[in-house]
Amino acid sequence: MDYDVIIVGGGLGGLISSIQLAEKDYKVLLIEKYAYPFNKVCGEYVSNEVRPFLEHLGLDLEHLGCTNINKFKLTSTKGKSLETNLKMGGFGISRYTLDYELYNIAQKSGVTFLLNTSVDDIQKINEKFFVETNTNQTFETNLVIGSYGKRGKLDKSLFRQFPEQKQSFVGVKYHIKYDFPKDLIALHNFNGGYCGISAIEDDKYCLCYLSERKNVKQSGGIHEMELEFMCQNPFLFDIFQNAEFLFARPLVINEIIFTPKSAVHKNILMVGDTAGLITPLAGNGMSIAIRAGVIASDIINDFLRKKISRAEMEETYTNQWDKNFRNRLWRGRQLQKLFGDEFNSNLAISTLKKVPFLLNPIIRATHGKTL
Ligand SMILES: Cc1cc2nc3c(=O)[nH]c(=O)nc-3n(C[C@H](O)[C@H](O)[C@H](O)COP(=O)(O)OP(=O)(O)OC[C@H]3O[C@@H](n4cnc5c(N)ncnc54)[C@H](O)[C@@H]3O)c2cc1C
Repeated sequence: MDYDVIIVGGGLGGLISSIQLAEKDYKVLLIEKYAYPFNKVCGEYVSNEVRPFLEHLGLDLEHLGCTNINKFKLTSTKGKSLETNLKMGGFGISRYTLDYELYNIAQKSGVTFLLNTSVDDIQKINEKFFVETNTNQTFETNLVIGSYGKRGKLDKSLFRQFPEQKQSFVGVKYHIKYDFPKDLIALHNFNGGYCGISAIEDDKYCLCYLSERKNVKQSGGIHEMELEFMCQNPFLFDIFQNAEFLFARPLVINEIIFTPKSAVHKNILMVGDTAGLITPLAGNGMSIAIRAGVIASDIINDFLRKKISRAEMEETYTNQWDKNFRNRLWRGRQLQKLFGDEFNSNLAISTLKKVPFLLNPIIRATHGKTL
C-alpha cells in the first residue's frame, strides 16, 4: 500500500500530526519503536496552552484523572524556597496514559500503526521517500515527518549534524507515592541539575530530573548520584527518604541536547524534539510538540492538495517553526543557566523574593498562546 505520509515516531508530535492528517482523509502510516502503552522519561506536567485543543480532540482529561496544577515552588540547592501562583498553569497526566489515549484516537481516525518497529534509514529518490525499518521492510511515500524525539541513531543515518554541546545530560524518571499537594509543581535544584515533582493520575506523582552526566560518572551510578548530589537539597532528601518508589528501576535516557537543530532536513519535516528540545524546566516541550504537529499537518495539507510546491512547503514550515518556537527555546536555554548550581540558584531565588512580580513574566517567556 502507498501512503501519503509516513510518520517516524509516535510521541506527542507524531501522534498529533497523524490524527490531523488522517482526519483530512490522507493515508497515514505511523512507525513507533515501542508498543502502547509505555512509560517515557518526561516530567508529565502539561501546560494549559494545549488543554482546549486536547479536549477538542476528544480527550476527557478529568475522567482520566489528571490533576490541575496552578502553584509553583522553586528551591535552591540548599533548600531556599520561593512559591507563586501560575497564571496559565497546567495539568498532570502520565505519558503512559496520555500517549495511549491519543493512540486510540489516532486509530479511530484511520491511522495505520506499525509498532515495535524502528526506522533505520530514509532515502529520497526523485519525488519518493523509501523508509527502511529494522524488520527489513521498506515503505514508499510522498512525504515523511520525523518525530522520533531527542537525538537518536536515525540522525546518524541521515547525516544530521548538531553543534557540539559543552554539557551532556541524563534524564531520569520515577512514579512515586508521596505526601505532596496535588495543585503544586516544584522544581528542586541540586548541583549539576534540577528535579521536578508534580501529581499525575491515580494519586501518584511524577519525579523527574535532568542531571549533568559527569555527576553520574563521578558518583559511580544513578542511585549513588542521587545520594551524593541530590540529597543535599533538603526537599529532595525528604522525597528519597520517605516516598514509595513504584518502578522496579529508574527510567533513564542519555544524549539529551538542547542545541538548535533544523526544522527540515533532507526534505523531511521535523516535529517536536526532533526539531528542537526546550529545556525541561520550562515545562512545555509537550505543548511545543503538539503545536508543531498541528502546524506541520496544515502546511502538508496545502502541499498534498497541490496548492504549494515541496520547496514552498519546506520554507513555510521552517519559517513557522522559527516564528513559534526558536525564541522560546533560546529563552529556555538562558533560564537553565540559573539552575543546577549553588551560587546561581541562590541568587535567582533571593532576587525573585525581592521582586516576585518578575516570576510570572519569566515563566511566560517560554510559553505560547493557547492553541
Ligand atoms: C527530563 C525531562 C523532563 C521533561 N519534562 C517535561 C514536562 O514536565 N513537561 C513538558 O511539557 N515537557 C517535558 N519534557 C519535554 C518532553 O518530554 C518532550 O518535549 C516531548 O516528549 C516531545 O515529544 P516528541 O513527540 O517530540 O518526542 P517523544 O515523546 O520523545 O516521542 C518520540 C517517539 O519516537 C520513537 N522513536 C525514536 N526513534 C525511533 C525510530 N528510529 N523509529 C521509530 N520510532 C522511534 C520513540 O520511541 C518515541 O515514542 C521533558 C524532557 C526531559 C528530557
